[in-house]
Amino acid sequence: MMLQTFSDLLQLCQQESLSIGQAALKYEVARGEKDEAAVLASVRMMLDQMKATIQSGLYSDEKSMSGLSGGFSHKVMTFFEQSDKKFMSPVEHKMMAYALATMEENSRMKKIVACPTAGASGVVPAVLIALQEEKHLSDQTMELALLAAGLVGELVSRRMYLSGAAAGCQAEVGVATGMSAAGIVDAMGGTPQQGLDATAIAFKNMMGLVCDPVAGLVEVPCVKRNSVAGIHASAAATLAMADIYSFIPLDEVVEAMVKVGQLMHPSLKESAEGGLAATPTAVAFTKNLFHQGSS
Ligand code: SF4
Repeated sequence: MMLQTFSDLLQLCQQESLSIGQAALKYEVARGEKDEAAVLASVRMMLDQMKATIQSGLYSDEKSMSGLSGGFSHKVMTFFEQSDKKFMSPVEHKMMAYALATMEENSRMKKIVACPTAGASGVVPAVLIALQEEKHLSDQTMELALLAAGLVGELVSRRMYLSGAAAGCQAEVGVATGMSAAGIVDAMGGTPQQGLDATAIAFKNMMGLVCDPVAGLVEVPCVKRNSVAGIHASAAATLAMADIYSFIPLDEVVEAMVKVGQLMHPSLKESAEGGLAATPTAVAFTKNLFHQGSS
């Protein structure tokens, strides 16, 4: 089975009346390494690890070695559980808190599922697990949703390295946001066309996102960026399921992201020399960090 583009994927879904998740399962089996049961068992293992990471990080106040992160997910959950000033829905609160929990565990060097990378590992688990809990979706539904998200990442990776050093954060958190949007649409029973539109809408709004980690650490802005990206994915999925389509087809959006990544200045591609990493606060923090390290 040849799937090179999103247009190929849509054709397969329409010809065989498949959701994106079902098409992704078929594609994984056709690659010949595993049968359907083995593919689903692998996906279930990843979902279990995502849940375990969220649970271990959610109420932890342990700081990362740099001190830049730790305790944020606990604060969001406390705000959600106790504040009369909260205004977002429970699923949105959980999406934000769960992404923070995963990213903070990543900063503490704990076990995470890279999806598509460690720096962007908060978005997909947060969105899918929060959705499952709040909408009472079955494990089988979530396995297909994760497969749908994974296939989106796979097809983008054919045209662009999924790395901030290669194409900026649009290739990491940006791609995770589009993957999540497709996963939401799949889990909520949207059509394949809506899944691709959700992904396109998410990508269009993440295009040009620079990679500018303070002191070269995957913490600022990465941890909070993952949290906000979950809400972004949710909004893109909602627009698409309301039948608001993307004027630019997804394959063309991806081509545009590739070109933007090539045009992006090297200082904005993980070198920690531009963007937020070059602000006075970041420079002072970095100097102090390395001074401490050498003393
Ligand atoms: S800013 Fe750079 S290091 Fe941080 S998540 Fe984005 S791509 Fe990764």
